[in-house]
Order: sequence, then C-alpha cells, then structure tokens
Amino acid sequence: MPHAALQVGALTAGYGPVRALREVTLTVGDGAVVAVLGGNGAGKTTLLRAISRTLGFHGGAVAGGEISFGETRLDRLAAPEVVAAGVVQVPEGRRVFARMTVADNLRAGALGAPRGSRSVSLERVHDLFPVLLERAAQPAGLLSGGEQQMLALARGLMAQPKLLLLDEPTLGLAPLAAERIAERIREINRQGTSVLLVEQNAAIALRVASEAYVLETGRVALSGPAAELAASDEVRRRYLGVV
Ligand code: ATP
Repeated sequence: MPHAALQVGALTAGYGPVRALREVTLTVGDGAVVAVLGGNGAGKTTLLRAISRTLGFHGGAVAGGEISFGETRLDRLAAPEVVAAGVVQVPEGRRVFARMTVADNLRAGALGAPRGSRSVSLERVHDLFPVLLERAAQPAGLLSGGEQQMLALARGLMAQPKLLLLDEPTLGLAPLAAERIAERIREINRQGTSVLLVEQNAAIALRVASEAYVLETGRVALSGPAAELAASDEVRRRYLGVV
C-alpha cells in the first residue's frame, strides 16, 4: 500500500536562546531509508523531536518552517496525533521500561494503534525478533543491550507506523549486535515502513540508507545518495574515520 513522503521545509527550532536547527530541508520518500549523520550536538535528536512533536516536552520549540507527511501538516498536530498519522519515534538510549516485562513493554507500544490490530502487530514483531517471544515474561531490564534495542524497535512497530524515526539505534552496541540491528532495520523497511535514521555510526547508516544528510551545527552541510556521500573525501575523513 503506498504511504506518504515526509517533507521538512526550512525548519528552525531550538531551546530558548539555543538555535539547534537552522532552515533544515529534508525529504524521506515513500518506502525509503534516509540517514541523518552528524557529530554530538549537531541537532539530530532535535530534528526527530520536532517531527514527532515532542520537542516541547524537552523545553524546546519550533520557530519556523513546515513539516508534512503526505497531505498532513504534522507541525499543526499534538504528539499523539502524529503517532495516529503513522509517524513513530523510537528514542535514543533504548528507554525500555526496565521493570516491566517484555510483553508489557510491547503492549504499551500498541496503545495508540487501531483496535484489534495488536495480535497482528505482535505476530510481526515476534517474527522479526523471536528472542522477544522467548523472553516475553522477563523484565526488560534483564535483556542485553542489543535485545533492549530490539525491544525498543519492536515497541515502536506495535503502533503500526508508516514512518519510523530512529534515534541512534546502534549506540553503545558491540559491532555484531549493531550489524544485527542494521539488518533488522532493512527488513522492517522491506516490509513497507519508511525510516528516518539518525546515527553517529556513519558506516552503518550509509549502508542501510539510500539517501543521507549531514548536519553540522544545525544546518544541512551535505546531502545526496548514500553511496555518493560514502565516497566523498569529506565524509570519509570526518565521519568514517578514513585518513
Ligand atoms: P547527540 O548525538 O549528542 O545527541 P544531536 O545531534 O542529537 O547530538 P541535539 O541533541 O539535537 O544534537 O542537540 C542540538 C543542540 O541543542 C545542542 O547544542 C544541545 O546542547 C542543545 N540541546 C539539546 N537538548 C536540549 C535541551 N533539552 N535543552 C537545551 N538545549 C538542548
């Protein structure tokens, strides 16, 4: 089923006097995986919070620009309405409910989803992440870092997103666990969910995404096909650690 494209136009946002994003323009086409790269403080998390309309919970605000998903102006909605429109953010740091069971974490993710859809979603996430079925009755805090990240992704999927906003899904993971997450993101995308992927791990992001943007101090410094950025001297030097 065709979904919609995300379009961010001249987005400016910040926290009080701090301008975290300046005139950022970006598109995630229907069915695409688009990466946003950048160092600490470049504005990546702020971009996702602006799209999901959660910036206000962190003391921030959008000061200008437009955000739309298909025909829907997301920048006129409240956060739960953005989820209902099909755009779901998986926050950084995994943020699972550590004392709740894996199963209850997944149930919490389904709260905004259409009635009756929960069993279909559960089946999908258990197919993607069989370990979450094996661990269903365990507190989420007992999972490994990689498994907690899987749970965070799975919880996001329970809301049946058309577009997932992923904030550093491989942060803090060992290389093998990070590769597994990257592979699952590809599979989620193959199943029809678009992805906006924020990563400091440029090597992984540029392999998963078809297009990428580089943010530097709140501005888009570079953008283009991921393969082209991966071949550019500047990206190789600054973000891929090639000297
Ligand atoms: P990181 O990878 O370190 O999370 P980032 O690219 O996601 O970096 P943001 O978290 O979006 O960057 O931060 C952009 C700017 O906004 C930084 O200067 C940061 O200090 C500032 N900032 C972020 N969150 C807040 C907040 N809640 N209050 C005030 N300033 C903030």
